[in-house]
Amino acid sequence: MAGKKLCELVKEGFHKEDPKAYKGLLRGAKHACKRCGRAATKAKCLCKPTRI
Ligand SMILES: [Zn+2]
Repeated sequence: MAGKKLCELVKEGFHKEDPKAYKGLLRGAKHACKRCGRAATKAKCLCKPTRI
């Protein structure tokens, strides 16, 4: 999943294929995607990151 945004991965079904890894990415999330409403620990995982 290197280089891919979490937003894209979720569209491809990543959260269903590997829910454990997905939850790991959400744990302690400090950023959210303005465009998709997705939350993630790292801003670079999102296409339109904003701090939460
Ligand atoms: Zn996004």
